[in-house]
Amino acid sequence: MSIAADSENHFDALVIGAGAAGLFYGARAGEAGLRVLVIDHATRPAEKVRISGGGRCNFTNIHTAPGNFISANPHFAKSALARFTPQDFIARLARHNITWHEKTLGQLFCDGRSGAIIDMLLGELHGAGGELRLGTSVQDVSRTGNGFRVSTAGGVFETGRLVIASGGLSIPKMGATGFAYDVARQFGHNIIAPRPALVPFVFEGRDKSDFASIAGLACPVQARNDRAAFEEAMLFTHRGLSGPAILQISSYWSEGEALSLDLLAGRDAAAALTAFKAEHPKKSLASALETLLPNRLVALLTERGEIPGVPRLADLSHTAIEDIVARLSDWRIKPAGTEGWRTAEVTAGGIDTQELSSKTMESRRVPGLYFIGECVDVTGWLGGYNFQWAWASAHAAAQA
Ligand SMILES: Cc1cc2nc3c(=O)[nH]c(=O)nc-3n(C[C@H](O)[C@H](O)[C@H](O)COP(=O)(O)OP(=O)(O)OC[C@H]3O[C@@H](n4cnc5c(N)ncnc54)[C@H](O)[C@@H]3O)c2cc1C
Repeated sequence: MSIAADSENHFDALVIGAGAAGLFYGARAGEAGLRVLVIDHATRPAEKVRISGGGRCNFTNIHTAPGNFISANPHFAKSALARFTPQDFIARLARHNITWHEKTLGQLFCDGRSGAIIDMLLGELHGAGGELRLGTSVQDVSRTGNGFRVSTAGGVFETGRLVIASGGLSIPKMGATGFAYDVARQFGHNIIAPRPALVPFVFEGRDKSDFASIAGLACPVQARNDRAAFEEAMLFTHRGLSGPAILQISSYWSEGEALSLDLLAGRDAAAALTAFKAEHPKKSLASALETLLPNRLVALLTERGEIPGVPRLADLSHTAIEDIVARLSDWRIKPAGTEGWRTAEVTAGGIDTQELSSKTMESRRVPGLYFIGECVDVTGWLGGYNFQWAWASAHAAAQA
């Protein structure tokens, strides 16, 4: 008996990867009447959904727009994002009685645990007749006359549509693999070099020991380079710098580049220091700066010689004040690198969108082959954008 004739192992759509994108696709394709199988090598589905958002899953961002995504082709994500919006996902949550709240900057989180989203994804998949097989690793993928043959540890499957939803390289200990890139290469697709994104920076030498000495301290900054700028909190760590502003700029960072940090972001520091000087001419520069920055940071910057030691503000000229403000508004530091795949929240780069349909995520080279979610060269900012891409790209593929 040929495998093709064995209808039990023949599916209209076979999805590799039971994460956010794969499960969402499975449900939508099942609802459209396709016989769907979702497989995953892990023994539990959607583990990244489970740990996301500190366990409450920041499942979307109400301000989602194409500008919140990084890609070699910034236009690629537009179509899918327009056809499945945050409101569409919110409406789905309402049907499952999952309540949520906005934390900050349009970031929506579950009121309860993120397991509720996983239950919804699994419930919808099974409700639509889709099957899920966990602990199933793929050994080989090949093209047949009108579809694909996928050999796995749990049997050989044939499918008309092969949907790759196996994510990126971030957090290998959670089962991340480069499987999607291998399949893409096998079928002649180009890969935009994957790199860790939304990831803390590490420092070496004096910077490392200095930052470690104030580990745990957070302050608002604008972190920027010549491609992007983010005004949010920064956190000093034992290895370097983290916090939302730093994670955001890391996605735009290239090896060897310096960062510019505005420690006085959003404040008229020159006016504040001048007023403080007029009121307290006998106080030190450090005490004036402590009205703007955390004390321990002021002490560290003074120790590093980035702020002059000025015992009496009366001795500080207006030009000198402007000079200090300029320096603190553009504090240049060069990271030694990032914490890498171990802690990166996402993978930037991935399967080149040039040869994918932006309407359906289908390969232009190999009909029936689809790539969705994080494996594609579309990377969201911190704040729910990556899940919105997972839902939107899955929805687009299921519409095909
Ligand atoms: C700590 C952390 C917190 C995060 N928090 C948020 C957040 O709050 N909001 C947000 O928008 N984004 C967040 N993200 C990013 C988000 O989790 C991902 O962008 C999203 O999960 C990508 O979905 P995906 O389905 O494409 O891939 P994944 O969710 O990674 O799913 C891929 C699946 O494929 C499976 N797989 C991999 N290789 C193989 C293989 N060879 N064979 C079979 N199966 C395979 C994996 O086991 C996994 O189940 C967070 C990420 C991390 C790491």
